[in-house]
Amino acid sequence: MNSSSATTQLKSWISAFSNALDSGDADKAAAMFTEDCYWRDLLAFTWNLSTAEGRAAITAMLRAVLPLVRPSGFVIDGEATESNGIIEGWYRFETEQATGKGFIRLKGSQCWTLLSSMEELKGFEEKKGSRRVFGAEHGVQKGRRTWLERREEEERTIGHERQPYVVIVGTGQGGLALAARLRRLDVPTLCLESNANPGDAWRKRYKSLCLHDPVWYDHMPYLPFPDDWPVYTPKDKIADWLDHYAKVMELNIWTSTACEGASYDEERQEWAVKVTRGGKPVTLRPKHLVFATGVSGFPNEPKFPGMDRFKGEQYHSSKHGSGERFAGKTCVVVGSNNSAHDICAELWENGADVTMVQRSSTHVAGSDSLFKFGTSKLYSEAALERGITTDKADLINASVPYGLMPQFNIPVTEAIREHDAEFYKKLEKVGFQLDYGDDGSGLFLKYMRRGSGYYINVGASELIINGDIKLRHGQIREITEHALVLEDGMELPADLIIYATGYGSMSDRVAQVVSPAMAAKVGKVWGLGSNTTKDPGPWEGEPRNMWKPTRQNGLWFQGGNLHQARHYSQYLSLQLKARLEGLPTPVYGMSEGSADR
Ligand SMILES: Cc1cc2nc3c(=O)[nH]c(=O)nc-3n(C[C@H](O)[C@H](O)[C@H](O)COP(=O)(O)OP(=O)(O)OC[C@H]3O[C@@H](n4cnc5c(N)ncnc54)[C@H](O)[C@@H]3O)c2cc1C
Repeated sequence: MNSSSATTQLKSWISAFSNALDSGDADKAAAMFTEDCYWRDLLAFTWNLSTAEGRAAITAMLRAVLPLVRPSGFVIDGEATESNGIIEGWYRFETEQATGKGFIRLKGSQCWTLLSSMEELKGFEEKKGSRRVFGAEHGVQKGRRTWLERREEEERTIGHERQPYVVIVGTGQGGLALAARLRRLDVPTLCLESNANPGDAWRKRYKSLCLHDPVWYDHMPYLPFPDDWPVYTPKDKIADWLDHYAKVMELNIWTSTACEGASYDEERQEWAVKVTRGGKPVTLRPKHLVFATGVSGFPNEPKFPGMDRFKGEQYHSSKHGSGERFAGKTCVVVGSNNSAHDICAELWENGADVTMVQRSSTHVAGSDSLFKFGTSKLYSEAALERGITTDKADLINASVPYGLMPQFNIPVTEAIREHDAEFYKKLEKVGFQLDYGDDGSGLFLKYMRRGSGYYINVGASELIINGDIKLRHGQIREITEHALVLEDGMELPADLIIYATGYGSMSDRVAQVVSPAMAAKVGKVWGLGSNTTKDPGPWEGEPRNMWKPTRQNGLWFQGGNLHQARHYSQYLSLQLKARLEGLPTPVYGMSEGSADR
């Protein structure tokens, strides 16, 4: 089918769909979808990030939301395309409160997947482009105050004379991206960061670390990297970028200031957030508290019998800086995911004798292959040349409902498996326990389901294959004065033991900062409920509690990789702005959550 007939078909679907919605006929609208359909909504219809799966769920959603949302103005945006029997294309629409954009996939004359996303709130559009502020104040004015004086006053008074509407805990990419968007929307915001600089979370990581995702995937909101930025950014360079981002985006940040405690006053509908500032206790009283403390920000410190008697050095991988001190030493790294591999390779480069202890199987994917068969389709120079800007790529990415992601990702994993068959054979030959995800869907789904269980190979696998990094298997029985002992009795002598045992979820941080009861009330943060390893059900169809209303009023979570921090901060910022302005924000499809965390 050529593009013009694909466009005609999409136009006709949109027009009929729009008529069905206009007449408030939820059944008629839902009947325009295939039986195996998905409608993913990012706020526009549900004030939630939610996916309706199947016609019945779409009918129920539309019945509940149509009278308030009153969608209108549906038009297709650009030409549609057709491939393998699927017609794809963009459309625009409006609701009572907002402008929106979406992406559709049709199978025949019915809709298979529909994405609807809120772009801007009517009347509260960002001051960009032709709406930008003037800056200078031409003319003469007694007592004129400069931009610097106003900015300094803002920094001096926020949190003291003026309460922020939002407090964000953490200024990694997640906190900064959200703070930048809230600033544009005029939402008074204060960020708290226990480190001395906004980018320190990256700066403090092991010396050899470079981003595993390529530059096209990693831009922060509003301020893309220069076009000579390296494909894979070294961690100190991204740390510098984040420090500068905070400055030029004029974000209010209290650095070297930990959020020590927080409690919610249901009656006043506000938080009491406790910090120490300049040696004095300060209580902040925001309406909203956002945890942007990192999906990989709470180290899982293991407890093995005998750890206290170990005479060498031992620490969690998050504390590893550089392997230089360990030249000629015997090092054991517990774990076989990203950090474990990177650190083993770095220790080996520094002349240490290195053993990796693999406790369970790991998915390994070559960095080049992941890019070639996966990321580059939407995020690359070639994609840009095809007109896929970062914004478009983000929305196309978002248009694949989580329920369909295995279907989209299994072929990618299979292609990598075929392309790298020799490599995988060699890894298996030396006994490395490989997996490809419970259903063969590979890396991205492991990340979304459990945030762990994989290595993006940038060289350590070759060291394992040729024996430079020794490989042992099994659980840890105990630690003795000079060794780590495996369950089967094998003793691994060690001067250094690194526990690359991963990270807990942000709910661990909530338990620490607010209370274990609050963490339990909110439930799991991250994971989809896919009933696969380390991601128990129930199925949510969306990442749990991320970027959307939680079961605690005024408590939110922001974070994820750079792409997610960029894209989903848009929806979190719109939710907070709407609440500041007192707009109705009825949430449809509130998660039942999971009782445990
Ligand atoms: C080794 C490693 C490699 C990674 N590589 C990549 C990659 O290549 N690409 C990618 O996209 N992602 C990567 N990630 C995952 C993720 O993107 C990073 O963890 C990233 O730093 C997350 O950003 P964030 O803003 O969500 O949280 P973080 O960067 O973890 O920032 C959280 C901040 O919260 C602060 N904080 C925590 N508690 C408090 C408190 N009580 N009070 C005040 N401040 C507090 C911390 O000091 C920290 O600065 C990697 C993660 C790790 C651990």
